[in-house]
Formats: sequence, structure tokens, C-alpha cells
Amino acid sequence: MSTSIAPQQLIRLAQEFDAPLYVYDAATMRRQYHKLENAFKDCNVKIHYAMKALSNINVLKIFKELGAGLDAVSIEEVKIGLMAGYAAEEILYTPNCVSFAEIEACIDLGVKLNIDNISILEQFGNKYGNTVPVCIRVNPHIMAGGHYKISTGHIDSKFGISIHQMRHVERLIKSLNIKVEGIHMHTGSDILDVGVFLNGAEILFDLALGFPDIEYIDFGSGFKVGYKPDDVTTDIDVLGEGLTERYRKFCREYGKDIQIHFEPGKFLVSESGYFLAKVNVIKQTTATVFAGLDAGFNHLMRPTLYDSYHHITNLSNPEGKQRVYTVVGYICETDTFAWDRPLPEVNEGDILCFHNAGAYGFMMASNYNSRTRPAEVLVDGDDYKLIRRRETLDDILATQVL
Ligand SMILES: *Cc1c(COP(=O)(O)O)cnc(C)c1O
Repeated sequence: MSTSIAPQQLIRLAQEFDAPLYVYDAATMRRQYHKLENAFKDCNVKIHYAMKALSNINVLKIFKELGAGLDAVSIEEVKIGLMAGYAAEEILYTPNCVSFAEIEACIDLGVKLNIDNISILEQFGNKYGNTVPVCIRVNPHIMAGGHYKISTGHIDSKFGISIHQMRHVERLIKSLNIKVEGIHMHTGSDILDVGVFLNGAEILFDLALGFPDIEYIDFGSGFKVGYKPDDVTTDIDVLGEGLTERYRKFCREYGKDIQIHFEPGKFLVSESGYFLAKVNVIKQTTATVFAGLDAGFNHLMRPTLYDSYHHITNLSNPEGKQRVYTVVGYICETDTFAWDRPLPEVNEGDILCFHNAGAYGFMMASNYNSRTRPAEVLVDGDDYKLIRRRETLDDILATQVL
């Protein structure tokens, strides 16, 4: 798997800004956005970038320029989105189990609200009636997604209002005079099967017929991106064709052209990102050769959190003889990035590059072991710039009261 930014340039960036370092490629973000937009071009599609994947304001501005809206899951994200220049009505706020006070504050900011449980729907209806239109997040109970921790649409999931509770929802909407302008689902991440996606869509189209004021149906996200060189990914074009046909039928039946929304995070930014880390130690034990990095799960959490695979290339020795390494971090806790991974011979001081580090990479970084979080650099064609400076010990201490 080659990098979209030349390996020599990645090494230069690691020298200039020091490692560990996150590097993002704006061109890849734009390519992914256009791919999605193009697949659904006949659908009146609106793409909301799920900013929790990577919320640096410089990245938000790229998607703003492309015409995207935002999907935000916290009031902090809403405020960052507004700071990046998005209009409030371009932001869909999709909270789960947040306080009603936070929801009120977001309504005051003017963003669109997605409600995902009956208790909140009732409180909302009592206070706002039909003065603020809402979107309803439905749980269609389909098992989708690559890992149980990232599947959100199944029967045991905490997300969404069950499809079996729609009668209850209808009663509340009628009695409290709630105006539903959108129906939403987000069934999980890494959905490979176009059929699974279309089944979920079918449920939403059917459901939407029962609501008179629908402006949009939001199909969430979960498109699978390639992690390994030979990985199969969601065929966006096949999905586009299938969904467009179904969309046309719906609009005819409904008597109005509605909008189709998607809210991808990973699909838009995963491949654009690289995490660069230096090798501190090569440690040969009786069973294994470890490559120990100057980084840990405090910088890249995904392998520890949900066994995610990140392709790794050795930028410093690309032509070296293939040997097998277990790549680990420096955290005092097991933090294995990759087991038994064939890599061109790794030497102390080499820079390793983790692919697919754009989504949920920096965002999940922490100060565990009292380590500082890395810097972020954005590459745009021949230009590059630092978009987040490396933290210092002072940053870590700043909130402590001495
Ligand atoms: C996380 C999330 C997304 C994005 O999921 P990806 O797998 O990154 O595309 C979209 N919508 C909602 C509501 C989310 O919580």
C-alpha cells in the first residue's frame, strides 16, 4: 500500500516537526468527498461530515469549501463547527444520552436536532411543540458493522428509537404536535455489504411515508474503507445505483423530492491520515522480535480499543529485507500495534508510518502515562502547514490546581 504523500516528504515532515506526528492529505479528503457525491449525484444528496472522526478546524474548513454540512455529537463539536464557519442549520446534532439542558443549549444555537430516545422526544415536545422541527433516529435492528464495538443498529444497541416503538412515537408526535422533518439511521461502522445497507434504507423509506413533513432521510454512514492492501471496500457506485432507484420510487409515492443525507467520518478522512512514529528499541526475546516505538496507545488507540488493523510501512528502509516484527508502544500496559507483521528490516531510529490514521486517530489520543499528544500537519498539494502544535508538559499541568 503506497502513501498518497511521497515517503520522502513524510520523512522530511517527521524531521521538521518531530515524531510522533499526524499528517493529513487534503487531496485524499477531496477525492473521497467527490467519490461519494458522484455516486449519489441523482439523489439530491447532502453530505454531513461526521466531525468526531477528525475535528481540527482546518479540516472542517476543507469540507465546508466542498459544500458539506456537519454531523456533531456534542455541544463542544457544535461550537467548533460554528467557529469553522458552518451555518447553524448545516449542522445536525446527534446526541446520545446527553442532558436535556445540553439539547436546549444546542437548539438555542440554531442547529438541527436528531432525537434518539422517547424520553427526550417527550421532553422536547412538551417544551417546543412544533416550533422546532426535528429528526428522529431510528434503530432498524439490523446487525451491521465490522466489530461489535462499532455496531450501533442491532437489538442490544443503545442507539436510536426501536423500529418497534414507532406507534409510541406517533402518539407523542400527534399529542404534542411535534414536526418531524427527518428520519435517520446509523447502523455502525465498516458495513461491507451493499445489501445490508439497502435493507436498512428500505425500512426508512417505508417509515418515512407515515410522516407528512419529511424534508430528508439520513442514512448515516459506516462505509468500509480499505485497511489492508487487498481489502474489499463498500462499492459506493453500486450502492449509489441501488439507492437512487429506490429514492426515485419514494419521491413519486411521497409526492415530493426530498433530500438524501449521509454522514461519513471514516470514509472521508481515514485514508487521508498517516501516523508517523520513530523506533526506539529493537528487542529480541526468546520468541519474538519487538519493534518498540516512541509512541503508544495514548497516540493511536484503535488497535487497543477494537483490534483495528493499520497497515505499516517503514519509511526509512523501504527496500530492506522482509522480517517479522511485533510492533509495540512505550506505554506501561500492553499496547500492541501489530502482531507478527512482515516489514522491511527495522532499525532503531527508523520512522514507521501507520496508514488509515485520519479517522479516530488523533481524536482518541490522551495524556495517559502523562505523555503529551502529538502535533498535526496538513499537506495540500505542494503546501503544508502545522495545524496543531505538539503539547507540552505545561499543557498537561494547565488544569491542575496546585
Ligand atoms: C460516528 C458517527 C458517524 C460516522 O461513522 P463513520 O464510521 O466514521 O463513518 C456518523 N453518524 C453518527 C451519528 C455517528 O455517531
